Amino acid sequence: MLLKNRKLLRRVGLVGLLFWSMTLVANDADAPPPALGELDNANGQLLRLRREIADNLRSTARFGGLEHELRFVRYRVQEGDNFFVIMARVSQDAATLASANDLANPNALLPGTDILIPNARGLFVHSEDPNAIQRRFGREVALLKQKGDLWFLPGQRYNNDELRIFRGDGFQSPLPNGRITSRYGSRLDPFTNRMTFHGGLDIAAALGTPVYASREGRVVRAETAPGYGQLVVIEHEYGYQTYYGHLSAIKVAVGQTVPAGHIIGLVGRTGRATGPHLHFEVRVNGQRTNPRLVHGITVP
Ligand SMILES: [Zn+2]
Repeated sequence: MLLKNRKLLRRVGLVGLLFWSMTLVANDADAPPPALGELDNANGQLLRLRREIADNLRSTARFGGLEHELRFVRYRVQEGDNFFVIMARVSQDAATLASANDLANPNALLPGTDILIPNARGLFVHSEDPNAIQRRFGREVALLKQKGDLWFLPGQRYNNDELRIFRGDGFQSPLPNGRITSRYGSRLDPFTNRMTFHGGLDIAAALGTPVYASREGRVVRAETAPGYGQLVVIEHEYGYQTYYGHLSAIKVAVGQTVPAGHIIGLVGRTGRATGPHLHFEVRVNGQRTNPRLVHGITVP
């Protein structure tokens, strides 16, 4: 731990200690965070968590750092729970819970999943380059190294744009008049007849129907890829990527910036496809998420 911190100090030294705040991370990196248990007021762990969050909020406001070392507890989402109820019970905010768990939307929280709840409010951000985070959030923002490329920004909240995306209002349908033929999740694979995981949404439409960019962004892939056929990938702000597969034609080039609604290709059946349709995928920090949860696609 000491060594790790010295390394961190060296790294921080390059940017200027003045703007940085550091705390050791209390959780042992190898041990799973302790389970929180029931979200009722008789739970001493829950009370302690709330107290630490309140203390850390105060210390963040005062000097940008944490009074209690950052630690996590684990909570298993129960049937009947919802994001906002859990958030209120554990005294957290949307940005903290969502970014700590790569949640694209409140509805992405499914019963049986374990979520991590930190004892401080703030934003978890993936970046290889701490300077890039400082540029994005401003130099006065305190940064706390987590694991790998993950950083914690105490006190940082979502901006209005991020809140809009989180509420399901940031992306639009790539194929507005299409028909949803296969949803995200486990399904019977049409090729192998076995249960497999489908990481996107299939939307059927006539061959050659235009496919639109779901949100503004930069084209990072425009190529033939195994399974996907002719594929376009667009990178958006805040760690989001959208995938458009099985296209019959690609209308954009890598490096191009496109607005939402821009025609990026035409519906096809290239790759692993039984008929003409779009395979639409949304990823958050590399993790596939349910596309119907992040934009205004109406699914019957
Ligand atoms: Zn598909």
